[in-house]
Amino acid sequence: MKVLKFGGTSVGSVKGILSVKKIVEVENEPVIVVVSALSGITDQLYKIANLACVGDKSYLTEYDQMLTRHMEMIEEVIDARKKEEVLSLVQTQFIDLSNIFRGVYLIKDISTKIIDTIVSYGESISSIIVTYAIQGAVHFDSKTFIKTENQFDKHIVDFEKTNTLIRDYFKTIPTISVCGGFISTDSTTNFITNLGRGGSDYTAAIIAAALHASILEIWSDVDGFMTADPRIINNAYVIEKLSFIEAMELCNFGAKVIYPPTIFPVFHQNIPVKIKNTFNPEAEGTYISREKTGEAPKAIKGISSINDTSLITVQGLGMVGVIGVNYRIFRMLAKNGISVFLVSQASSENTTSIGVRNTDSALAVEVLRKEFAYEIAQGEINEIFSEDDLATVAIVGDNMKRTPGIAGKLFGTLGRNGINVVACAQGASETNISFVTDRKSLKKALNVIHDSFFLSEYQVLNIYVSGIGTVGGSLLNQIKKQQVKLMAQNALKLNVVGIASSKKMLFSRDGIDLENYSEDIKKNGVDATPELICKEILNLNIFNSVFVDCTANSQISDLYQTLLENNISVVAANKIAASSSYENYVNLKETARKRGVKFLFETNVGAGLPIINTMNNLINSGDHIQKMEAVLSGTLNYIFNTISEEIPLSKAILMAKEAGFSEPDPRIDLSGKDVIRKLVILAREAGYKIEQSDVVKNLFIPDKYFAGSLDDFWKTVTELDVEFEVKRKALSAQGKRWRFVATMKNGDCNVGLQEVDSLHPFYDLQGSNNIILITTERYNEFPMMIKGYGAGAGVTAAGVFSDIISIANIR
Ligand code: ADP
Ligand code: ASP
Ligand code: MG
Repeated sequence: MKVLKFGGTSVGSVKGILSVKKIVEVENEPVIVVVSALSGITDQLYKIANLACVGDKSYLTEYDQMLTRHMEMIEEVIDARKKEEVLSLVQTQFIDLSNIFRGVYLIKDISTKIIDTIVSYGESISSIIVTYAIQGAVHFDSKTFIKTENQFDKHIVDFEKTNTLIRDYFKTIPTISVCGGFISTDSTTNFITNLGRGGSDYTAAIIAAALHASILEIWSDVDGFMTADPRIINNAYVIEKLSFIEAMELCNFGAKVIYPPTIFPVFHQNIPVKIKNTFNPEAEGTYISREKTGEAPKAIKGISSINDTSLITVQGLGMVGVIGVNYRIFRMLAKNGISVFLVSQASSENTTSIGVRNTDSALAVEVLRKEFAYEIAQGEINEIFSEDDLATVAIVGDNMKRTPGIAGKLFGTLGRNGINVVACAQGASETNISFVTDRKSLKKALNVIHDSFFLSEYQVLNIYVSGIGTVGGSLLNQIKKQQVKLMAQNALKLNVVGIASSKKMLFSRDGIDLENYSEDIKKNGVDATPELICKEILNLNIFNSVFVDCTANSQISDLYQTLLENNISVVAANKIAASSSYENYVNLKETARKRGVKFLFETNVGAGLPIINTMNNLINSGDHIQKMEAVLSGTLNYIFNTISEEIPLSKAILMAKEAGFSEPDPRIDLSGKDVIRKLVILAREAGYKIEQSDVVKNLFIPDKYFAGSLDDFWKTVTELDVEFEVKRKALSAQGKRWRFVATMKNGDCNVGLQEVDSLHPFYDLQGSNNIILITTERYNEFPMMIKGYGAGAGVTAAGVFSDIISIANIR
């Protein structure tokens, strides 16, 4: 004999009931079918009762809606011949129910007894409908054989009576029996009671255990027990097998798929449990049994969570070494019917923290304050408070036993992602490690843990891109092209979760489709400001994330500190932060280091050229940078290489801008500002404390051309053309060329125009190329030379991309 339980998710729709019918009718051994109320009906019954109780007439509308839903269900799932009979049975129930509601509405008062009666109608009615929908099924009323006793205002199953009654009622078992789950009656008073929210699973387990069923099947709307709640973790997957202990731990910590007390009766009788999907009966489901789970042991089996947690801490020096403090804490809590699901005490005995549900927290604090009033008055124990709005997460698995490193991996993962652990506990059985964190970190915590324990086959990097101009746009295209390959070859999933232009921003936790992001942002984007971008990123609180700044905006670079503090790595094509005050530069690097994230800005100097990385490698391996000479402005080099008899200075500047080589405002290049910023960054990375004002300048365009607006500049710059052409001709006659060179020698920095002859390594520098000569202790007689494209959207985006990828390797 089998017991099959179909939850509200199964019997709540026509499709579901038809599927239940099919599943049950093909069984070839007797089955007892336990059903819940139609999905949502229990909640609705509570709601109607509350409305009626406060005299709100809208209870009638809600009631009508509920009635209609049941009538429509009968219409669809019951055979025409039986319809009348079912209607009459169900209508009788509804008449009783509406009379109770009317009574509540009139007297505007309600007791727990009446509420329990009201909610029992959900299962009473659904079980009648399901009985008549299934060919040859016989109806049983669970209220007659599931008996409860009252303990601290909670209904506890009276197993002695219940087991006897069940065995009596099912002395001869029909081929198919149907009864309602959840509902019961009090052993002494016979008043209607219930087994608690979600309690139909428990009813089924009680029946299965009493009758020694061969199996208990719990049919729901998921393919099985999953590694985590699929509503929170979308890549959670079905666990093939679980032990009773593992299942119990996961349910206790919130895996709603089974009501926690369910495991207990079947565990004792060693009756296996299967979790199956009514809507996909072919799926194997999850098998829960006493057996060891066998093949390919994963360290942990599942993660679950409780999002309403209060932590009550009893703390004080007066507790150290004093016997009986914990006894008194737990005695008081037990006496008041408060259930504790997590306890944490440090070995110093100075502090005991207790996790309870939010609804129990005020009472728990009150009774503990009373119990320890004397010690509190004496200062031996501090005032007792509760910390609310917390959540508890548990990782569960029998294989954690004697496996070192699980807790390390767990807390390491949490730490790297900025998730604070308020309290933690691991039982000596080692099948569960639980910790308490802020409720707002829950989703992120579940995701990072799931990712690091279950999806270690690949890792996810969540990317926010700010700025979708030439560099940002190119970057998104490169990411789009590489996504599949990186996943296949490097097991790296790049997930772009946010994109912001200067006006609009778009976020999606599951990833933005890069095929259509520009239309998407126009259509679905919301107004963006740097503050709003930051707020939304912090709000989303996504794990393993990186903020990529492809703007030239100082308000965006002002966000880095906050982002880094929140464990979000920063990759900047924007040079403002790294070249700002030395103090700010050091703070950002320091924050990143402390938070275990990265602040990278390779493209700030030499676009895609590996200059900063190379310097860091030299320094980290013990070398010392003494001197750097470089042409770092692709723009200026392009301009000096383009100027000719036909192309005057002003035209060359315009061409550089149009080719995308210059900063959006080319004056930043021409004034040497851009080169100064780069030199400052290089000098700092080489280990020197340099400010922009320390750099000596020798410019080639007089300051007055930079004073007005950009428009004024374009109008007046042509005045320089003639004089420049004269100089250019003279220089060319000497076989020399102009290069705008940045130099750092033992910390002294300068930038300026130099005339170089054909023997100089800078002479043959094509187009917008950059070059740098680095003299170090090791590379002394012959400096190291790095040369190549130093500007352009494609190479800069590629440099940003490689910074992003280097972050992925931090795990
Ligand atoms: P029923 O109405 O059939 O009793 P429930 O809503 O009580 O169904 O339980 C099924 C739901 O439990 C699933 O839809 C799923 O969202 C949720 N759930 C939470 N944690 C898990 C988990 N670890 N595995 C599977 N489902 C889970
Ligand atoms: N109908 C009840 C509830 O919603 C019992 C159950 O679904 O198992 O809590
Ligand atoms: Mg349920």
